[in-house]
Amino acid sequence: MKKKLSVLVIASLLAACAVSPTGRKQLVFMPDAQINQMGLQAFDSIKQEKPVSNNARYIQVANCITQALTRETGGAWEVVVFEDPSPNAFALPGNKIGVHTGMIQLVNNQDQLAAVIGHEIGHVLAKHSNERVSQEMAVSQGMALIQAVTAPQTALGQTAIGLLGVGAQYGVLMPYSRTHESEADIIGVDLMAKAGFDPRQSIALWQKMDQASQGQSIEFLSTHPSHSTRIQDLNQHMPNAMGLFQQARSMGKQPRCY
Ligand SMILES: [Zn+2]
Repeated sequence: MKKKLSVLVIASLLAACAVSPTGRKQLVFMPDAQINQMGLQAFDSIKQEKPVSNNARYIQVANCITQALTRETGGAWEVVVFEDPSPNAFALPGNKIGVHTGMIQLVNNQDQLAAVIGHEIGHVLAKHSNERVSQEMAVSQGMALIQAVTAPQTALGQTAIGLLGVGAQYGVLMPYSRTHESEADIIGVDLMAKAGFDPRQSIALWQKMDQASQGQSIEFLSTHPSHSTRIQDLNQHMPNAMGLFQQARSMGKQPRCY
């Protein structure tokens, strides 16, 4: 007990330094390398479970959008299109992105898909997985949680992949908090704007998701709960995003991915 307490004290001291990209104080005390390792392992598991799409157009579109977005963030990112009719997308620590064919079919244009991918990248940039794992570690579990991600069929494995935000792939529902969702929204919409995608399409995207979810449960919305305040918050932030968008366009950034 005493040992556990001192771990917590050290953890909170370390965490005092952590601040998210939007300026929010965070409890993150797991080494990034370890969280990235978890992300890479989870991505490998998903690749083994889910058929990868061979639709050349979808792959080209997903790559083009991801490249335009991640040119603004730096780092090497990989995007994989999965053959799955459910409209879903996710991003994992370690810079791995997954997009279902169903999501590509749902959106109307490149800007809406950029909104989805940008939002997912936002979760990774803001280290939401690290925060969720850190919180869980502070209460229990211990290091076994890190290892468990390689065994998604076990109870602890389910917790691990749930914390990474890809539990829906395995039927585990562990939604992001409202705080994480709005943070990913803001980071995502600024990111798409900086890359030259029309940020107003983020609102159209969420409206479309809401519509599509009428009467049926959408996997994506089970981990990224839709709130009426989401669109309100995006609207409020839109002048800022439009400024970034106009700046990007004046610099000649005009992606043509579709
Ligand atoms: Zn989200």
